[in-house]
Amino acid sequence: MDRGELAAPPAREGERPLRVGVLASQGDFAAHAEMLRELGAEAVEARGPAELSELDALVIPGGESTTITKAIERDGLAPAIREHAAAGRPVLGTCAGMIVCDRDHLGLIDARARRNAFGRQLASFETDLEIAGIGPDPLRAVFIRAPWIEEHGERVEVLARHQGHPVAIRDGAVVACSFHPELAGDPRLHALLMAMATSARKREEVPR
Ligand code: GLN
Repeated sequence: MDRGELAAPPAREGERPLRVGVLASQGDFAAHAEMLRELGAEAVEARGPAELSELDALVIPGGESTTITKAIERDGLAPAIREHAAAGRPVLGTCAGMIVCDRDHLGLIDARARRNAFGRQLASFETDLEIAGIGPDPLRAVFIRAPWIEEHGERVEVLARHQGHPVAIRDGAVVACSFHPELAGDPRLHALLMAMATSARKREEVPR
């Protein structure tokens, strides 16, 4: 992980604010959008392919992965999401969003998520997690019928584990976590996404 990324200011005076889309087909997109706005981003609730283009970063929120997957198909969103990721623009997939990013769905991460991995009913809990790349303080993580990463390729970096299972990973410009980082008031994963977006924008600005 590029340790310098978090140090990069997410949005600077005189520059166009980062435009961060939150896939709003289903799930708790509003809390993500609010957190991103507090960090200085222009947060866009994305429902159609047009709203998914020209984004600096994209959040795929939690909710119900089957419903989100169906909405992506119904609304023809997969090409726009894949194009975004292929351009090296960052994506944050949370809970159901992690599942949607995996090999069996959009294929944005070289990993397979296991649904409801902590058990279906009794599986909502909170814990403090140390996460590589966001500083030494643990982050309060809210797990709601959460997945974990069952299996992953070598290039995938595990950022955090819970009960021995990967619950936050990074594969290139895609960060995926099992929990809901938008619910506990700690915006560091969203700040990481924005810092990655700032780096990606700088790379794209370099004249070829
Ligand atoms: N259990 C849900 C699923 O499998 C995910 C839950 C969540 O996003 N909080 O889609």
